Amino acid sequence: MTSLGAVALFDGVSDVGVRSLSWSGDRIVGVGEPSGRAEFSVIPGLVDTHVHLLGYAGGRANAKGFDTFTWPLVTIREEQTLHATANAQRAMRMGVTTLRDLGADESQAAMSRVFDAGILPGPRLLASGPVGMSAGHLDLFTPRAVADRPPVADSPDACRALVRRWARAGLTGIKTYTSGGVLSMGDKVSWRNHTRAEIAATVDEAHALGMLVACHTHSEEGIQIALDEGMDSIEHGTGMTSAQALVLAERGIPVAPTLLINDMIARAEVPVSAEAQSIAAALVSARDELLRAAADAGVRFVLGTDANGYFLEFGDQWRELVRMVEVLGYSPARALQAATSDAAAAVGLGGSVGRIADGFGADFLVMRGRPWEDVSLLSADNIVAVVCRGQVVAGVLPG
Ligand SMILES: [Zn+2]
Repeated sequence: MTSLGAVALFDGVSDVGVRSLSWSGDRIVGVGEPSGRAEFSVIPGLVDTHVHLLGYAGGRANAKGFDTFTWPLVTIREEQTLHATANAQRAMRMGVTTLRDLGADESQAAMSRVFDAGILPGPRLLASGPVGMSAGHLDLFTPRAVADRPPVADSPDACRALVRRWARAGLTGIKTYTSGGVLSMGDKVSWRNHTRAEIAATVDEAHALGMLVACHTHSEEGIQIALDEGMDSIEHGTGMTSAQALVLAERGIPVAPTLLINDMIARAEVPVSAEAQSIAAALVSARDELLRAAADAGVRFVLGTDANGYFLEFGDQWRELVRMVEVLGYSPARALQAATSDAAAAVGLGGSVGRIADGFGADFLVMRGRPWEDVSLLSADNIVAVVCRGQVVAGVLPG
């Protein structure tokens, strides 16, 4: 058993004062009376509900001769998987100890098993497989001249078959789409993706196999389809109306707002086409007011960044938290809850990570200051140590 004698503790929901913290193996085994003075604070490891690990892991500044679209076309899959592993490990060292990949296939499922078995150090990784249509948001990431494309599903039966393929591969969730998107080439946000019958088949098959369904959508129509067809989370949700926000709040459906990436594309801070920039600028101009009203109405926003290592790097989750404070009007404590206990619940791990309590996974961060009291402390620069699965994976434990 390992212990910290006295730390200021944010348990994933609230400040619970100065406590001692003990863990054994992968589990927290005691939160109790402190001994001594608390020099540092502890918060749960962050949970990012929306990432894409298969991206170049060397940093955008070092990417020469390719961009985020062409890299997968010029890089063999074995090499891509090594980059994805590096991205996951970097996220973990930056304090993001649980990730859900929403563009996953056999590669991420394999990585997840390798991390769980302790073969390589890594975060807890959930892999969700995409079920989208021809000319849908995902399909349009691959240029039209390329014949070797990720799988698509173009009928209710094809949707069921693709869900089953991902289940067989060991994936634990499904990602689907009810509108177009920003970065996909030749796409329109206003395009509906999939028929109601295809969506219903996807959700029914996924739920039958115990998989949560995350729904990419920006448009009012797309959000309505997601609500009507029983999606488990909304990804982006940029154009939600006040009536839809009330339904989302009442049902407690989590929404990952992916604020920072859309800001960066809208401001052309990252290399994107003029087409993508103008789509993002239109979305962002209306977004802040709509999402702030939705947050005020009680919509449960959770940390979800769309990080792929190229536009958003792994570790930029901290900057997304600051944007959640600025855009949604969340207190730093509410933003941390959105990134820990609420995000864990959103991905189906509410009973095992995202909180500091007896029996939960030993994933936590030792930090300088109390970041739940001060937005300026929401930064990886304040990390003293990262503990993931009970092991110190970055920094050094105090004392
Ligand atoms: Zn995404």
